[in-house]
Amino acid sequence: MKKSLIAVAASAVLAMAAASSAQASDVLIGSCIYKFDDTFMTGVRNNMQKAAETLGAEIELVDSQNRQPMQNDQVDTFITKGVNALVINPVDRSAAGPLVDKAKAADLPIVFINREPDKAVLDGWDKAYYVGAKAEESGTIGGQLIAEYFKAHPEADKNKDGKLQYILIKGEQGHQDATLRSEYCVKAMKDAGLEIEEIGADNANWDKVQGHDKMKNFITSLGVDAIEAVLANNDDMALGAVEALKSEGYNLGTDGKDPSKFIPVVGVDATAPALQAISKGQMLGTSLNDAVNQGTAAVRIANQAASGQPVTDEAIGYKITDGKYVWIPYVRVTQENYKDFM
Ligand code: BGC
Ligand code: CA
Repeated sequence: MKKSLIAVAASAVLAMAAASSAQASDVLIGSCIYKFDDTFMTGVRNNMQKAAETLGAEIELVDSQNRQPMQNDQVDTFITKGVNALVINPVDRSAAGPLVDKAKAADLPIVFINREPDKAVLDGWDKAYYVGAKAEESGTIGGQLIAEYFKAHPEADKNKDGKLQYILIKGEQGHQDATLRSEYCVKAMKDAGLEIEEIGADNANWDKVQGHDKMKNFITSLGVDAIEAVLANNDDMALGAVEALKSEGYNLGTDGKDPSKFIPVVGVDATAPALQAISKGQMLGTSLNDAVNQGTAAVRIANQAASGQPVTDEAIGYKITDGKYVWIPYVRVTQENYKDFM
């Protein structure tokens, strides 16, 4: 008697699982990525694909090539084609309004990722969501890493003036991650009690080559000896800066001859090449910008909402705030724990 009850219960669970995966396999998600040629978004994109496979949903990912008008057309095409949900990484987050209007007119769920639209825009449609990370956290982690290093290494104050002379390499103008990371890394250094002086700041648009070129300019104008730390809004730009320092004989780490020639550089993302640079002692640290969980949460919300089911914490496995937001935490990464992220 007992056994058969368990058997009944087990088969009911199996039937439910089968039903929900059969339903899920009917879902087609259309997704636009601001540009495919972005290191961090490539990680998110790959994890979205994996998450869709796991759910048995179909996902079509397109490259918006950093052009908002192109993305608008791609959304129209997806809607005409009959997708059941949209996942959008806007080119210009201030241009999200018309995309929400299109989704609403077609009664489609729309999940924004990585570039946060205004709250008022999201509030205009019940089925609009945002999955991202609080940039304040990663800014704070970067500032704290530099502050700790500066306190532990008195020789890092190269000109012995009791102040930290730093360079700030910022992401794309208008991107919340560039604004907030820049603000909070400076705040964290001050909160740690450091006297600081910004001797250079520039935008390098998340790009490694631009990060390298901007750093090269600072080295040329200020002299490498004037620079005591570099804070970059992401790892690609941090790695570009490291390359520029390497050509001056600095930050060669285990590849080089003089490990004492080191200027602390921090980034954000914890990309594979950044973890490599941290392991070699060429970069001080970074924050994990969690592409796995951001990609997974976005696809689960899209799939759930597309199936007409309530988007709850239990259903998607992530905490939903204000009925619309999923915030994935950043994690501090240094030489002590980088292996956990490889
Ligand atoms: C990442 C950057 C990326 C940008 C794209 C940021 O959150 O840290 O590496 O280029 O998003 O929007
Ligand atoms: Ca100094």
